[in-house]
Amino acid sequence: MNADKPASEPSVTEAVHAAGGMVGGMLLPWPDVDGEPFWRYALQGELRVQSCADCGLRRFPPRPCCPGCHSFDSRWQLTSGRGRIWSFVVAHPPLLPAYAEHAPYPVAVVELDDAPAIRLVGALTPSARRPDAPLDAVTAEAGARLRIGAPVQAVFQTVAPGVAVPRWALTGS
Ligand SMILES: [Zn+2]
Repeated sequence: MNADKPASEPSVTEAVHAAGGMVGGMLLPWPDVDGEPFWRYALQGELRVQSCADCGLRRFPPRPCCPGCHSFDSRWQLTSGRGRIWSFVVAHPPLLPAYAEHAPYPVAVVELDDAPAIRLVGALTPSARRPDAPLDAVTAEAGARLRIGAPVQAVFQTVAPGVAVPRWALTGS
């Protein structure tokens, strides 16, 4: 596993552990063995999902076995990163203090264009040029564009050294 990773480069899991699992009071992803590649590709700016090497079924969250044909062989398939908001909530306190500072802010469930059976949860941003926008930027600047079915594009915010998380940029007007 991870045979294509240079030995000198820490894994995302090691980077998360080095940061204590949290930065500025905000939680970092906590990869497991199956999920580590997802986060490594995210750090490269790629949204990839597991694809069964035998039947081609794409799956998320990462896991060792294909739910369709029970094969243990899989590859990480690049997606376009495009999708649509399938649902969303607007988070209000009680929240952890670092999150409460930005509330209310939206969190979306996004259906991928390439694999509509796959839905990912994430924070939104008003523009693909601003992966680092505050959590509440959409509420403040683009509330009218926030709706179920709105087109979005995955962008990647570096949240700690060696750790990046996908966010969803609203692409429609
Ligand atoms: Zn399969």
